[in-house]
Amino acid sequence: MQTRTTPTEGPAILWFRLDLRLADNPALHEASQAGGGVIPVYVHAPEEEGNWAPGAASRWWLHHSLARLEATLRERGSRLIFRRGPAAQALTELVRETRAKAVFWSRRYEPTALRRDAEVRATLAKQGVAVRESCGSLLFEPWQWRSAVGRPFRVFRPFWINFQRLADRIDSPLPAPRRIPAPDGWPDSLRLEELSLLPNEERMGHWLQLWQPGEAGAHRALNQFLESGLRRYGADRDRPDKPGTSKLSPHLHFGEISPRQLWNEVRSTSPGALRPGSGAAAFLRELAWREFAHHVLYYFPEAVEEPLKPEFRTFPWSEDDVRLQQWQQGQTGYPIVDAGMRELWQTGWLANRVRMVVASFLVKHLRIRWQKGAAWFWQTLVDADLANNTLNWQWVAGCGVDAAPYFRIFHPVKQGEKFDPNGEYVRRWIPELAGLPADWIHRPWEAPSVVLAAAGVELGTNYPRPVVEHAEARAAALRAFQAVRGSRPTSPEAWQP
Ligand SMILES: Cc1cc2nc3c(=O)[nH]c(=O)nc-3n(C[C@H](O)[C@H](O)[C@H](O)COP(=O)(O)OP(=O)(O)OC[C@H]3O[C@@H](n4cnc5c(N)ncnc54)[C@H](O)[C@@H]3O)c2cc1C
Repeated sequence: MQTRTTPTEGPAILWFRLDLRLADNPALHEASQAGGGVIPVYVHAPEEEGNWAPGAASRWWLHHSLARLEATLRERGSRLIFRRGPAAQALTELVRETRAKAVFWSRRYEPTALRRDAEVRATLAKQGVAVRESCGSLLFEPWQWRSAVGRPFRVFRPFWINFQRLADRIDSPLPAPRRIPAPDGWPDSLRLEELSLLPNEERMGHWLQLWQPGEAGAHRALNQFLESGLRRYGADRDRPDKPGTSKLSPHLHFGEISPRQLWNEVRSTSPGALRPGSGAAAFLRELAWREFAHHVLYYFPEAVEEPLKPEFRTFPWSEDDVRLQQWQQGQTGYPIVDAGMRELWQTGWLANRVRMVVASFLVKHLRIRWQKGAAWFWQTLVDADLANNTLNWQWVAGCGVDAAPYFRIFHPVKQGEKFDPNGEYVRRWIPELAGLPADWIHRPWEAPSVVLAAAGVELGTNYPRPVVEHAEARAAALRAFQAVRGSRPTSPEAWQP
């Protein structure tokens, strides 16, 4: 450690986690006011995330986000110290080296993070170091919500009604500090590259043209959305052929922008923003879904591995790994599903409508357990988020809180025709089908052979035939569902389509 003077009062350590921003960061704000300077640190400890260490796409994002954060901190007279975990040990060492008196952080709510943070708190307390935690990733703490009967919410509608009642309590965001008080000396740091976050994957080579990780990128995405997306959000959010949504999800997940900033920006640019029917209202409702997902994860942490409806524990899932691979690779023969899975692989992101369609196809048409889909999304999404991913997979599978009933099965052709009516989305991601007219693009197996020949499509050769037939797969899924609902003994063989 290079020390200029002997500190009389210790500095404050600011532990960055999923709050990689300077503006509206309560932990940074409080640490800056503590006196004695601020030492920002990022501790790399993937082994402390249990089964949910960041996947490849998330690591790509995290690397670039940390690089941006480090550069921004330097512009404000500060630095970002990189250390390796375990977190309790890394922070204890840093406290000893810097004689820090307090550690500040924004709370996380995933089950493993909660356990780890309790351990870090206890370790630091033993050394007489104060811990100050803030709510920096959510609008409200997950435990602030209670239904009328005093239990956690399991249904979104009453949660949303409650939410709107409290919405006026949402404070204005904090400004970004112009200068961050430096400590008397800086401790040693690893270089970001030494954390080896960046996957060596060719498909990510062009991702910096698609995405701008970091706080400035988050604000750019927000401004673009406010200018051209918000007004039409209600109508376009389900249209994967249009840029209908904000694409703020990775920025929100990594905390490059806070939900409080979004909430306030949208409300100030759209008077009457909570009026039902407006694009702004629909968007703010999605932010409330995000809060609901964290509320559910906090009270039902087992949801990350287990269905919340116990009857689904005996569901006769298929173990067909060939089908799983066909789904992952976008080779199911259903164009809307394949376009989605290829977009996911090539860009790290998917619109919500397509997430629902591909997830439904996996759990209902292929009857592959939702956990395998959630694990694939975890590896491939740049916005992989334990609360949102878990809630939504359980929602689609019909086994979570407020879930879509299992018997409601998306028809992949009708979904395609409704939400990608001209087939532009499919053409963008499946070049093999680009020559097909809109009438056939979502069901090429029904197209006349002259149409296929004119488009250069050879089913079974350059594009697969459907791996399952819709009506049969649907009937088999319903039989399986009836069986678990009636709690009769089941065997997977009985449900082969
Ligand atoms: C099977 C499945 C898995 C999903 N996994 C994730 C995930 O890992 N991470 C993730 O952030 N979202 C997940 N979602 C939710 C949703 O699809 C994405 O948040 C959304 O598509 C992100 O795009 P956007 O930022 O343009 O969203 P917008 O429509 O612009 O919405 C703004 C923000 O609201 C929140 N939001 C929107 N929809 C939802 C929702 N259904 N549930 C909770 N929050 C929502 C997100 O933070 C999003 O960034 C999943 C959905 C499904 C069906």
